[in-house]
Amino acid sequence: MRLDKFIAHSAGLSRKQVKIALHHDQVCVDEQTVRNGGIIVNSVNTITLDGQVLALSGPRYFMLHKPKGVVCANQDASYPTVLDLLKETNSDTLQIAGRLDVDTTGLVLITDDGQWNHRATSPKVGKNKTYQVTTREAITQALIEALEAGVHLKGETKPCRPAQVKILDQRCAQLTINEGKYHQVKRMFAAAGNHVVALHRNSIGDIALDPTLTEGQYRPLNDIEINSI
Ligand code: URA
Repeated sequence: MRLDKFIAHSAGLSRKQVKIALHHDQVCVDEQTVRNGGIIVNSVNTITLDGQVLALSGPRYFMLHKPKGVVCANQDASYPTVLDLLKETNSDTLQIAGRLDVDTTGLVLITDDGQWNHRATSPKVGKNKTYQVTTREAITQALIEALEAGVHLKGETKPCRPAQVKILDQRCAQLTINEGKYHQVKRMFAAAGNHVVALHRNSIGDIALDPTLTEGQYRPLNDIEINSI
């Protein structure tokens, strides 16, 4: 990894702050002062900033209970983002694994491990995502059958993969899908003649939203959760 990137990640500095530190001879690699941020360093090098040894923390994995009115984006002009809810350094290196709409609540996974993100979200891997869906009209047998057969969404060439549906109430169902098309759940219900009025994600694969997290709270994933993806 480039030295400047290593310092930025391990010390939580911006690129500009790293440049200044290098320019002011604050950085040493194996006890030699270094000004060139472009040199390649690895785990055998000892890198210090103002005499403090720097170490990269491993990849990070979090689950967040997303409230309404917060967007799954790294930046947004109108709404706070899920990353604004994290009190973490280097939050610009974090990625959102599977976005939710601004009015959807529930489980959001956040990581800086790109391959893990890919496994969590790729339709080829096909991790199940379970949602609690509240509808405007009563959920009919015809609607359940349409969802279970695979609804054809407007503008898509192929129908959705069959969904699993569990009725919780007249207007509330648990829906499990293993794709992640744009606004998929709302579009599935609309295509089958109903309308989603509230949507909440309970789980992705074997990772379920921790019931102790209130809206806006988050925690690191444990090893079992990380390794389940
Ligand atoms: N499907 C939707 O329509 N919206 C979401 O936020 C997630 C899945």
